[in-house]
Amino acid sequence: MTFLMVGLFLLFCPVGTEGEELDMKAKQFAKLEHFSAGENWGNLEKVQWQHVHHLYLIRKELKRISCDWPMVIHCCHAESGHSSNSYHYQGLATDFHFHTSVTLKFQLIWLEQAISSLGLDDFLSVGVYPEWKPEPGGFHIDSRGTRLRWVKIKGEYKYGDTNKILSYLKKGDGP
Ligand SMILES: [Zn+2]
Repeated sequence: MTFLMVGLFLLFCPVGTEGEELDMKAKQFAKLEHFSAGENWGNLEKVQWQHVHHLYLIRKELKRISCDWPMVIHCCHAESGHSSNSYHYQGLATDFHFHTSVTLKFQLIWLEQAISSLGLDDFLSVGVYPEWKPEPGGFHIDSRGTRLRWVKIKGEYKYGDTNKILSYLKKGDGP
């Protein structure tokens, strides 16, 4: 009986080395438009594919609505350097900026439009960072499964709905 159970366990337990995991991620990235494994994702083994897929869907949707803005990845998985309980530690969050000349306000409006069209409003959380370089700043998106919106200004996190967040962004920094 015990041997049978051990045998069944060995047969069905999902054994995979970290090397295989990394190889799988590289293959998945190779098939993905707009992104590559060589960007600043951090430890690729710890990056969760579902999250990368969300970014891909957003990038694709933005392109569809004529906002074909490359997303420049700052980081995804990290071991430290973010707030405690950060989703970066789980490989579920990405910091990036859009490579475009449009204002941050305009970027946020269309980013939210894309997220909404994808039906991901209540699944993704979005942070806006107008002080990040290069100007006019960038975004944090995480796949935490619930909705939260914030903007970080002068070291302070301000939370609220998208309109509230837009109101915090610089006057004149709008479409
Ligand atoms: Zn972040």
